Amino acid sequence: MSDCIFCKIVKGDIPCTKVYEDEAILAFEDIHPLAPVHVVIIPKTHVATLMDIDAAGSDIASQLMAAAQNVAKLKKVEKQGFRTVINCNADGGQVVFHLHMHLLGGRKLDDSMG
Ligand code: AMP
Ligand code: ZN
Repeated sequence: MSDCIFCKIVKGDIPCTKVYEDEAILAFEDIHPLAPVHVVIIPKTHVATLMDIDAAGSDIASQLMAAAQNVAKLKKVEKQGFRTVINCNADGGQVVFHLHMHLLGGRKLDDSMG
């Protein structure tokens, strides 16, 4: 997707502060962090939303989860804890339509789920 901001980050056309990368996944610091640790974890291939994951034929969900474990360890929040969030479509508050998981931590997160 040529006009997708996260595809541009994957291609290196827009800079990011990289936290983790493997063949399928890129993770980088959120530009507007909501917590001391706020990392955005994305598949390198363009998938618009959670609803566009092909659950039958794709490894993306498990790759995102495995990457979240690695990011939590790299950010040293795996013991005290963290939160992962995937916003989907309008009511979910999705702004960037390239599937991404937020990993938030480094402080006690409030009890509200929104
Ligand atoms: P969402 O509301 O789930 O679509 O969240 C999109 C997230 O992407 C927000 O937390 C933004 O701060 C973040 N974001 C947008 N552009 C960039 C960028 N160029 N680099 C890092 N994070 C970004
Ligand atoms: Zn994209």
